[in-house]
Amino acid sequence: MQNWRNEMKVTLFGTRGSTPISDARSIRYGGNTTCLRVESECLPSGWALAVDTGSGFVPLSRALLVEKIMKVGVIYTHWHHDHTQGLFLAPHTFIPMTDVRIWGPKEHGVGPLEVFRDLMKPPLFPVSFVKVQHHIKTTPLYHVGTQVMVVHPKAGFHLLDIHRYRQRVAEHKQLKLGDGHYPVEECLVILMYKTEHPEYTVSYRFEEKPTGRTFVFLTDHENTASLPRDLLEHVRGADLLIQDGQYANEVYMTQTAGFGHGTPEYCAEVMKESGAVRLGITHHDPSATDADVDSRVREAQQRAMELGVSDAEHCIFGCADYLAIEV
Ligand SMILES: [Zn+2]
Ligand SMILES: [Zn+2]
Repeated sequence: MQNWRNEMKVTLFGTRGSTPISDARSIRYGGNTTCLRVESECLPSGWALAVDTGSGFVPLSRALLVEKIMKVGVIYTHWHHDHTQGLFLAPHTFIPMTDVRIWGPKEHGVGPLEVFRDLMKPPLFPVSFVKVQHHIKTTPLYHVGTQVMVVHPKAGFHLLDIHRYRQRVAEHKQLKLGDGHYPVEECLVILMYKTEHPEYTVSYRFEEKPTGRTFVFLTDHENTASLPRDLLEHVRGADLLIQDGQYANEVYMTQTAGFGHGTPEYCAEVMKESGAVRLGITHHDPSATDADVDSRVREAQQRAMELGVSDAEHCIFGCADYLAIEV
C-alpha cells in the first residue's frame, strides 16, 4: 500500500476480569472490565475497531466522540457481563447518527442480537434494544475457525470462508470483498480460535498485512493440560500477545481450576512455545491490588526465564487501563 505511515496500535480501555472495581490500591492497573481498541490504517476512513464492550467501552466511546469518530465496529470474544456491560451506557449506543456494527459468536440460538435484545430491556435496563437497533447492526459468527474477517480501507469489513481465503492467498489471487477485488497485502486479516472457557469464546489474531505486524488477544482462556498445536499456530510469531493470567498458580491449583481463566506461568509457556515476542498479562482478578498484579507479572517473567527467554523482564508486562501499545 502506498504512503504507509503507522503500524497497528492497541489501546487498552479495560483490563479487569469479572467485575469493574474502584480501589485506591488498584489505581495503577485500573478497574474497567475488558475492552480494547485496535488502530490500523487498514480500517476504512472514519471507523474505529474495538474488541469487547466491558465497562472500558464507556471511556472508549467518549474518546471516539472527541475524535469525531461516529462509526465503530466491535468484535466480541463472548457474552459474559464483564465483556458486554459497557455497551448499555456508551454514547455511541444512543446517538442516532452513529453506525455501530457488532460481530460475535452464535451458539445454541444465542448470538449478538439475542444477547442485547434480552439484556437491554425493562426491567433490566430502561431503554429497549429495539429503540436503538436501527443504527446497531449485529452479525453472528458461526462455527468459529471456518470464517475469517478481512478489513480493507476501501472495501470495509467482510467475512470470508476460511478455505476460500487460504486458497486465494496460496494462489496469489486477489480477494473478492463486496463488489471489488483487492490484494490481501492491503488488508487487516482477523483469524479466530475457540478458547478454553465455560461459554463459546473466541480469541482473535490480527494480521496487519501491509506492515507484517501481528497481535493476538487471548482472554478468558484456561490452562490446557498440554499446548494444543492449533493454539500454538494461532499465536505463532505474534509481535504482541495479550493473555488471561488472572490466577496465581497456587490459587488455580487449589480453588479456581475449571473457572475458565489462566495462570501467568501458562501464559509464559504459550508465549515461549509459539514464538510470540511480547506478552501482556490481562483479565486481572477483581480482588487483585496493584502489588498482586505485579506478582502475576513476575510469575510470568520467572517462568519465561526458566524456559530460556533471557529478556523476560522487558517483554512481559501487566496490562493497564489506558495503556497504548505499538504492535
Ligand atoms: Zn471475562
Ligand atoms: Zn468469560
